[in-house]
Amino acid sequence: MLNKVLIANRGEIALRVLRACREMGIATVAVHSEADRDSLHVKLADESVCIGPAPSPQSYLYIPSLIAAAEVTGADGIHPGYGFLAENANFAEQVENSGFIFIGPKADTIRLMGDKVSAKHAMIAAGVPCVPGSDGALPDNPDEILKIADKVGFPVIIKASGGGGGRGMRVVEKKEDLLKAVEMTKAEAQAAFGNPMVYMERFLQRPRHIEIQVLADEHGNAIYLGERDCSMQRRHQKIIEEAPAPFITAEEREKIGTACTEACKRIGYRGAGTFEFLYENGEFFFIEMNTRVQVEHPVTELITGVDIVQEQLRVAAGLPLQYTQDDIVLEGHAFECRINAEDPYNFIPSPGLIESCHLPGGLGVRVDSHIYQGYKIPPNYDSLIGKVCTLGKDRTQAAAKMRVALAELAITGIKTNTPLHRDLFKDAGFLEGGMSIHYLEHWLQERKEKLVK
Ligand code: ADP
Repeated sequence: MLNKVLIANRGEIALRVLRACREMGIATVAVHSEADRDSLHVKLADESVCIGPAPSPQSYLYIPSLIAAAEVTGADGIHPGYGFLAENANFAEQVENSGFIFIGPKADTIRLMGDKVSAKHAMIAAGVPCVPGSDGALPDNPDEILKIADKVGFPVIIKASGGGGGRGMRVVEKKEDLLKAVEMTKAEAQAAFGNPMVYMERFLQRPRHIEIQVLADEHGNAIYLGERDCSMQRRHQKIIEEAPAPFITAEEREKIGTACTEACKRIGYRGAGTFEFLYENGEFFFIEMNTRVQVEHPVTELITGVDIVQEQLRVAAGLPLQYTQDDIVLEGHAFECRINAEDPYNFIPSPGLIESCHLPGGLGVRVDSHIYQGYKIPPNYDSLIGKVCTLGKDRTQAAAKMRVALAELAITGIKTNTPLHRDLFKDAGFLEGGMSIHYLEHWLQERKEKLVK
């Protein structure tokens, strides 16, 4: 097993990894920026190292500081969490070249999946269904681009091969707008990701976002832990997730899950990963793979009982998975609400001092959060301050538990999006389940119009 793990992250995920290590008897090293001295992950870790000033390029994204911190503390493994360097192949490579274990897939796998065009090629080769679109990157020739679009059918979406986090995408409704949109997306992709390559997909009208959680080890084993529905999104950012996905049958689950584990074996995948799909009219279409633990992993843990982070640690240590596919039984229904420090109406970030804080609890309630009374949320990072999850015997009970948990959640001093979650858990459409990825945007638009009246 690993002896000491350096957690190259902050916030709730640093705490999540820390807890998994502790339970397994693995010592922990927290790293933090100057703005995060008072963070809970720093207080709870066995050791901590300040790795630089508040701006993340000089701290959480600065590879030499992280490697140096691992060296001085004698850590043997580095867990990247999510965000920051978690899907940076160069980081994974430098970690391993410096003699540490990277708790994630091999650098080559991250590289393959990090480029959406190469990821799609790999998935098509592995027999995973993909969104119909251009065969790889778009050519430069305008006539050829127009020809491809005609074949794919409007509306289309132009996506940056190097894109991520909901950026680098543009929907095109009509032929007249196509070439300009391609040029703009290319220029943006070059500026944002240093890679101007773009590709085209059919823009699905009312899909749901459904993703498959997988685990794979270095002994040729791969399993899927069912799916999550993450269709409640604002600006391509997930707000509420749930597992299992409403109305997905056991047959559908097994078919797509098996396709994913077969793909894992084929590409030599290692560790935890997620295959993201759009789902429409009974069909799954692969959009991308996340080669790391995801924000929404707790809903899967709640319905399977599998500790995904502990499995990551075991696999990184070279051990086989503790589970076979037959061991995975989905029980009950789980929701996750992402609690952000932001205005619930205009979504402007609201960092600052938490004057008081009461977190909910009780049977079937799980809260992953790094906040506490007196904690000052720095303005430099993501606005996620915690996740409230509930597990019920079915979706109705999980929702009832969430309503109670959200009613109890009380944070003062800053604004949070808790009122938005409370409203959504009273909304008939959301409660019915199976809404498309556009549902929340429409809902927010309607709310805005009502408020103006
Ligand atoms: P990112 O890596 O930036 O998250 P994704 O490829 O995962 O990008 O897409 C993010 C979101 O954009 C999806 O969850 C979906 O809401 C929307 N999207 C992406 N591709 C399509 C498509 N072909 N049709 C409709 N919506 C899409």
